[in-house]
Amino acid sequence: MLSISMTHKVAIVGAGPSGFYAADGLLRANPDLRIDIIDRLPTPYGLVRAGVAPDHQGTKAVARQFDRLLANPNLRFCGNIDVGRDISWQALREAYDAVVVATGMVVDRKLGIPGEELPHVWGSWRFVAWLNGHPDFRQGPDLSAVRCVAVIGNGNVAIDVARVLAKSADEMAKSDIVPEAGATIAAAPIEEIRVIGRRGPEHASFTNNELAEMGRLARAVALVDPHALDGVMAPAADPTPEKLRKTRNLELLRGFSQNKQGDKPIALRFVFNTAPTSFDTADFDLVVTCIGYQAAEPLPSGEGVFAVGWARRGPSGTIPTNRADSHAVAQQLVAWLKDREPKSGADPLPPAIDAAGWHRIDKVELAAGAAQGRPRVKLTGWQALLDVAQG
Ligand SMILES: Cc1cc2nc3c(=O)[nH]c(=O)nc-3n(C[C@H](O)[C@H](O)[C@H](O)COP(=O)(O)OP(=O)(O)OC[C@H]3O[C@@H](n4cnc5c(N)ncnc54)[C@H](O)[C@@H]3O)c2cc1C
Repeated sequence: MLSISMTHKVAIVGAGPSGFYAADGLLRANPDLRIDIIDRLPTPYGLVRAGVAPDHQGTKAVARQFDRLLANPNLRFCGNIDVGRDISWQALREAYDAVVVATGMVVDRKLGIPGEELPHVWGSWRFVAWLNGHPDFRQGPDLSAVRCVAVIGNGNVAIDVARVLAKSADEMAKSDIVPEAGATIAAAPIEEIRVIGRRGPEHASFTNNELAEMGRLARAVALVDPHALDGVMAPAADPTPEKLRKTRNLELLRGFSQNKQGDKPIALRFVFNTAPTSFDTADFDLVVTCIGYQAAEPLPSGEGVFAVGWARRGPSGTIPTNRADSHAVAQQLVAWLKDREPKSGADPLPPAIDAAGWHRIDKVELAAGAAQGRPRVKLTGWQALLDVAQG
């Protein structure tokens, strides 16, 4: 019988959390596998780098675990290869014994209402990708005359967007926000940020810590109309952890409802049971919609193709959610490979940015950060990233 130790080769497309957890699961199940983890960017870690808020460095620290995996000689980082553009999915399926689709799901979902295409209306992905230095999103919004902002949505991404807009330059000083974005936000004349949910406060999906942080901001005071909370309780039918989370959220919101604006310059207002029906420039100078994501294009499927992470489950779940999910799929994949003969043939990939190239970028960014007392200052242009990666 054939044994898997005859070096099967697996391509993982997408070097975000789900791709790395899949690599981890595969190498735990069979340390002899040869794995290529491919990403269209010259940098790994997906939304850990480009989505997670720049002032939440504790969350971004998960990247260190992934970095340690890159030291495994059987795991090869192949950056700057866009599957579909630089090599076809079919070519990958022919060259590798199995293909893992870990491409995530970040195209901004639309509300489908008039005015959504106006220049002051931004999807949350475009907005956070800008302030996190994604090289495809270097142009940010013009905030020079922005006084009133609407953040549409009641999840943690809405909280992230509102918080980063509300925080002072001092509060962002230890973040890795792109410096130009940080300066643009700090200079904006923002007076009001409204976080708008279409349902009641008992349905908001904020997590407790993220909501609590909104009550501790230096230049913004969190406010809620007390009437919006009258008689509201966590739905009895919810499972216990959900009920506890919602009950704590309601306590926090009740606390905010006691606040007075005082002398802080920004009012950070939570508004519930309100669904926008159109956008114009009369009410808000900037709108950021945080209502979820969709896939860019249909993903491949079929024999030997395994999806993980957001590409498999859709755009929900935190970084740790991807771990259990990817490990389970890795087990299935290893079982599937068990009695199959390993494929042979030449390396199908075009020239890539390897782990050494990424580490050159990392070193330059960390050094630039150290010079400013920040965790890192990112390179944001494609050419700069490629020049540094290529030494
Ligand atoms: C704004 C935002 C903030 C978040 N904040 C938190 C947080 O604070 N804490 C938390 O736990 N979770 C957070 N999450 C959720 C977390 O980021 C996701 O659970 C996780 O990133 C999903 O991992 P993934 O690997 O499936 O996708 P991604 O992280 O999106 O990774 C997909 C990777 O695939 C690459 N790729 C895509 N298409 C191709 C292609 N054709 N060829 C090659 N490569 C390709 C992309 O470049 C990317 O690197 C946040 C999400 C968002 C959007």
